[in-house]
Amino acid sequence: MSTYTAPLKDMRFVLNELAGLSEVARLPGCEDATPDTVDAILEEAARFASGVLDPLNRSGDQEGSKWSDGEVRTPRGFRDAYRQFAEGGWNALPFEPDWGGQGLPKLVATPVDEMWTSANMSFSLCPLLTQGAVHALALRGSEKLQQTYIPKMVAGEWTGTMNLTEPQAGSDLALVKTKAVSHGDHYRISGQKIFITYGEHDLTKQIVHLVLARTPEAPEGTKGISLFVVPKFLVKADGSLGERNGARCASLEHKLGIHASPTAVMLYENAVGYLVGEENRGLETMFIMMNAARFGVGLEGVAIAERAFQRALAFAKERLQGRDLAAGGSPVPIIRHPDVRRMLMLMKSQTEAMRALAYVVAAALDFASRSANPEERKRNQAFVDLMIPIVKGWSTETGIEIASLGVQVHGGMGFVEETGAAQYLRDARITTIYEGTTGIQAMDLVGRKIAREGGVTAKAWLGELKSFDAELARSGNADIQSLRAQLAAGAQALGDCVQFIVAEKNPLTAFAGAVPFLKLAGMVAGGWQMARAALAAEKNLSKDKSFYEAKIATARFYGDHVLVQAPGLRDTVVKGSSGAMALSEDQFLAA
Ligand SMILES: Cc1cc2nc3c(=O)[nH]c(=O)nc-3n(C[C@H](O)[C@H](O)[C@H](O)COP(=O)(O)OP(=O)(O)OC[C@H]3O[C@@H](n4cnc5c(N)ncnc54)[C@H](O)[C@@H]3O)c2cc1C
Repeated sequence: MSTYTAPLKDMRFVLNELAGLSEVARLPGCEDATPDTVDAILEEAARFASGVLDPLNRSGDQEGSKWSDGEVRTPRGFRDAYRQFAEGGWNALPFEPDWGGQGLPKLVATPVDEMWTSANMSFSLCPLLTQGAVHALALRGSEKLQQTYIPKMVAGEWTGTMNLTEPQAGSDLALVKTKAVSHGDHYRISGQKIFITYGEHDLTKQIVHLVLARTPEAPEGTKGISLFVVPKFLVKADGSLGERNGARCASLEHKLGIHASPTAVMLYENAVGYLVGEENRGLETMFIMMNAARFGVGLEGVAIAERAFQRALAFAKERLQGRDLAAGGSPVPIIRHPDVRRMLMLMKSQTEAMRALAYVVAAALDFASRSANPEERKRNQAFVDLMIPIVKGWSTETGIEIASLGVQVHGGMGFVEETGAAQYLRDARITTIYEGTTGIQAMDLVGRKIAREGGVTAKAWLGELKSFDAELARSGNADIQSLRAQLAAGAQALGDCVQFIVAEKNPLTAFAGAVPFLKLAGMVAGGWQMARAALAAEKNLSKDKSFYEAKIATARFYGDHVLVQAPGLRDTVVKGSSGAMALSEDQFLAA
């Protein structure tokens, strides 16, 4: 059995060499992110992830959360782990000091969140959802709502949920039916929500539900949806908990993965709710906070890929099968076989590429929200808006592929549950579905982020890739030159697709290739970061030869095995749409 080891060296390398931690630490409000403090946080988080969360991952998967008579019991050990998590101040890490948070930049919270998810994805979802709910309240809640709820949620005493989905309203939230009727200083909420993560649990007494609902006179569609806070227990004037509210958990879903995370069917029966922001503008608030939530799920792709890689690596060093191709002799560890090496390199190189892109986007989020320079804020926000669907869609799709490769490295032992490799694949599978499926991310990328603005931000990024090519040209390293050629071909393919999308007037044609385009964009963005990593490694080679040599070789591998696919994806985007729409609905099955 392998235990989770935080990849601290790679995390520090990305933070310092690629994401610009020292510049982020100069932003207003980020002064505490000194190298010593960040190091101490990473070390301590790594200890908590490996020592407390990782040991509960498998048992949590086997036991699952259990529903009985409206109450939910999380698996053994989760309550104690959550208590330690809150007491250790980890829940408060990403929040503003005004609310009792530590005010650390997103860039510092990102590797920490990655560690929680690698060690125990089911556990990590609870603080992730609380972050989302706090974010919504901080954005649009009245002062009273903020004072009542946020400090306790930041401290981890109360947790939060996001209630969007209903049986008939998934990707299409225009179909939300839950009702909200005004009643003096509050509203009465009635309806059913499904798939609500940590909708009910025993980690804390209070749960703060953020619920999308419609008032009776609201217009149809997305312009008639409002957002409400619906606490499990009503809160008295002195802040203590009062009566039970009309919100209850009818059942838990039985699902493929994340068994320890309770996915609740919630019934709201005349429950007391308080409006967040203005009536009919609930979805707008949700959209504002969506970047953070989608980024968080994208990071899950990175985290689960890292964990799957570590387990596969440990297995490949132990499992004896086959002879050495050159020397023959007795059975050797399977890591000596070229095909197993290839699989491990695919896992390692893509995980490192995804991590680098995610941290670079985290730094841009910090610049977009905190820079004193309005021009810098605007430029970073445009970059973030373009990159978020890529981080979400590409990292989660690739995370699943990596978890699947992890099973393959294990052979039959990967398919049975004993080794744990199968759990990562099962857990990873949800990441491309919730918080907007890959199809929805890709349509956002192609439609809102590229076509709508005539490709301005995408073209600015392509321009950056071009200038970077000149920088790469100065390296005398053969591996870097090989990667440079692949990256140039990838950027060309991406540019061709951007032209195609901007020129295409028929949305059916553009959307038929949206997911391949998203994958191409992720592949190239990852290649860009791997090339930056290779240049930084070349510069630092004498400081830590083994690590930096491996970085350059891994970057080259990414070029030859991953980036090389870019021109093929371009052809799919540009030529493949007619094929996607060619059959009539009746022609799909010739029975
Ligand atoms: C374990 C789990 C946890 C979850 N947690 C939460 C939570 O905490 N809160 C919450 O509110 N929800 C939650 N969800 C719900 C989740 O966000 C939805 O499942 C997701 O948004 C997809 O909606 P759907 O399941 O109705 O699929 P559908 O919307 O029915 O989609 C089915 C397929 O059709 C495609 N599709 C749909 N519309 C379009 C379109 N316009 N164009 C192209 N393709 C389209 C989709 O990409 C998908 O492939 C959770 C779900 C699960 C399974």
